[in-house]
Amino acid sequence: MHGTPQEEAFVTSLIRDYYKAHKGITTDRIAEREFGAGTFERKIAYRHLHFRDDAEFSRFLIDKAPAYVSYSVAYYRRPDARPMPNKGWIGAELVFDLDATDMHLKCQDLHGRSWICENCLSSVRSETLKLIEDFLIPDFGFSEKELGINFSGNRGYHVHVKKESILQLSGSARKQISDYISGNGLNAETLFPTMGRRGAKLIGPSPENKGWRGKIARNLLTNMEKGEENLESIGIDKATARNIYKKRALISMGIKNGNWDMVYIKNKAEFWKKILVSQAIAQSDRIDKNVTKDPTHLIRMPGTIHGETGLTSKKITSISELSEFDPMSEALAFTSGEVDILPNKSIEFGMAGRIFSITESKKITLPVYAGIYLALKGLASIYIT
Ligand SMILES: [Zn+2]
Repeated sequence: MHGTPQEEAFVTSLIRDYYKAHKGITTDRIAEREFGAGTFERKIAYRHLHFRDDAEFSRFLIDKAPAYVSYSVAYYRRPDARPMPNKGWIGAELVFDLDATDMHLKCQDLHGRSWICENCLSSVRSETLKLIEDFLIPDFGFSEKELGINFSGNRGYHVHVKKESILQLSGSARKQISDYISGNGLNAETLFPTMGRRGAKLIGPSPENKGWRGKIARNLLTNMEKGEENLESIGIDKATARNIYKKRALISMGIKNGNWDMVYIKNKAEFWKKILVSQAIAQSDRIDKNVTKDPTHLIRMPGTIHGETGLTSKKITSISELSEFDPMSEALAFTSGEVDILPNKSIEFGMAGRIFSITESKKITLPVYAGIYLALKGLASIYIT
C-alpha cells in the first residue's frame, strides 16, 4: 500500500485490534527463533528480534501492530545475536514456499502479477497438494503430522518439514532434495532404456515402480482416463492426444506391464521429455532457492497478518483441509464492520462467498475485509472518518 499516513494508521489500528483479540498466536520453539517485522513499505524493516515466550511475543504484536511478521526457519542458541555466525545455529526446518506468481499462469497475463484470481489460488493449492502427496509423503517418507502447512497470506502456501532427522541436513543434501522434486537430472533415456534402439520394444516405467518411474506411469494412466484435454494439459499435442485417447485401453494394458510401445509416437525422446517436465513441481527455481538457501532466511510467521492483503497466514491442520481451503473466505482477519473506499480501478472479485463488483472512481461501502484488501493491493484509497 502506498497510502497516506492516516490510511496507514487506520489499518494499523485494525491490525492491533486483531492481535488483541488473538493472543494465542505462537509457534513451536519460539525462544530459539529470530523474528523480523515490517512496515507497509518494507516487509522486513527490522530483524534479530527475540522473544522468550508466547506472552512476550503477544505483547510485541499488540504494541507494534506490524504490517508483516516473519520468523527464522532455523533455530538458534542466541537468536538476537549478531552478526549471524554469533547466533549459534542449531538446525533448520526444510521449507517449501510455493507462490502463484512463479507458475507462469495464463490468467496472470490478463490481470498482472500483483492481482490474484481464483484460478491463481486453485492452481497454487493443487501444486502444494502435489508436493505433499506425490513427493514429501510417498518418496521421502514424511508423515502428515511432521508437516506444517500454512497459507502465505497472499498468493501461495508454505510447507514446513519439522522432522528431527532433517534439521541438521547440509546445504548439499537440501539441494539433492530440491533437485529430485524439481525433476532436475531426470532424463528420458534412463526411464526408457531401449529408447532409440532400432527395432527394440520401448521398455518403460510401470505404475508399481517407486519414485519418479511410478509417478510418470501413473500420471499418464490417470490423464488418459480423464480425456484428451487432460493429455494436452501434460504437454501432448492435439493429434497425438486424440490418438492415445482412442487407443487408451490397449496403451494402459501395455504400460501396466512396462511396455510403452502400444502406439506409434513421432519423436519419442522429445515427446517423453515434455511429459517429464510437466510432472515436476512447476516452480523448481523458487523451491531451489528456498530449500537450499542460506540459513539466515526469514519467512512469514504462521497466523500473522500479511500487510499486502489483510489476510492471515493461516495454519492449515491437515491435507484434507488444504484440499478445500479457500483463503478468500477462511483467512480473513478483519471480519467486522464496513469501510468507504474510492477504487482507482474497476474490478470484480470474490470474498467470504460474496462477489464484489467495483467501479473506478465511484465511492463504495464494503465490508472492512474487502475494502482493506483493495486498499492494501493499491487499488483503492480509504475514506478516513
Ligand atoms: Zn489468476
